Amino acid sequence: MSRVYNFSAGPSMLPESVLKKAAAEMLDYRGSGQSVMEMSHRSKTFQSIIDGCESLLREVMQIPDDYEVLFLQGGASTQFAMIPLNLAIKSGKADYVLTGQWAKKAAAEARLLLGEENVHIVASSADKTFSYIPKLDPAAFDKEADYFYICMNNTIYGTKFPEIPETGDVPLVADISSMALSQPLPVEKFGILYAGAQKNMGPAGLTVAIIRKDLIREEVRPLTPTMLRFKTHADNGSMYNTPPCYSIYMCGLVLDWIKNEIGGLDQMYALNKEKAGLFYDYLDQSKMFKGTVEKDSRSLMNIPFVTGDKDLDALFVKEAEAAGFINLKGHRTVGGMRASIYNAMPIEGVKKLIAFMKDFEIKNQ
Ligand SMILES: *Cc1c(COP(=O)(O)O)cnc(C)c1O
Repeated sequence: MSRVYNFSAGPSMLPESVLKKAAAEMLDYRGSGQSVMEMSHRSKTFQSIIDGCESLLREVMQIPDDYEVLFLQGGASTQFAMIPLNLAIKSGKADYVLTGQWAKKAAAEARLLLGEENVHIVASSADKTFSYIPKLDPAAFDKEADYFYICMNNTIYGTKFPEIPETGDVPLVADISSMALSQPLPVEKFGILYAGAQKNMGPAGLTVAIIRKDLIREEVRPLTPTMLRFKTHADNGSMYNTPPCYSIYMCGLVLDWIKNEIGGLDQMYALNKEKAGLFYDYLDQSKMFKGTVEKDSRSLMNIPFVTGDKDLDALFVKEAEAAGFINLKGHRTVGGMRASIYNAMPIEGVKKLIAFMKDFEIKNQ
């Protein structure tokens, strides 16, 4: 068996020890005589899996008691609709910051559901291909807005909000799909945090939403389907219908790995800073490879870079793949390359990629 270093933006690498544990428990989960994939979600065994996952998440992320944790489906993209449907019930208006494609898609969904005139764009970095996080002017915030929306780490463009916007009484909603569990976050500063699991939390099929309880209401926008109401899922322990059982189990294993093998989110963050630091330091002194993002907006998870020459970019991606570094091709809107170095990417993977890049630079100068 040989495993590659997978720099995919998602689905992405999982920690090897998590995969081994899942493999060992595949046919007989802890004496139950069945795989977690085969188990009734109404069984005691599965109830202990979902409860265990939630309590580990609460512990690792230090989630206060007045927040609900929901295990949902439909991907992060379904939250683009659930958020306006559940939150926009007073003024019916919302503020959005446009920092990339995922924020744009979220704002487009809000426009569809709330009407064009009710979705206010506070700031945008579209003018420079989303290569920075725009400075926010609180005077431009709508005090009447039912919520304020950001995409905190922009997977495609490789930017991250350097600080959390202060939105006062307006609940701050953040898509943290590509940075969940990568660093500690002050959960109490947010109304909602949510993430598609397939970047940093587990396999695809699961979306985790952390929601301040007062935002889970009976009253929602007219015609909101049952499945798109937060309350439906909160009232039923995320089991109104069949939940993504296996992905929840895997998410629990990932959390266990963070807690017990890494040592918690502070250690995870230190490791992520070290990995990204090595990569950015190399890019900053390279004569061939250049980062595409302004320094104070750099993501620790997704690092886009270019040579400035399309043919050389293509050659690099091809040779890297042959050497066991896969999925380095950049998003089509940015071009060049992108290395996604989520939690599960070992530091040796980053060091080996840098060594490969140095070598490539010498050979092709
Ligand atoms: C991947 C991603 C999404 C889309 O997630 P799906 O689960 O595929 O809907 C949304 N937002 C961000 C920041 C992402 O990285």
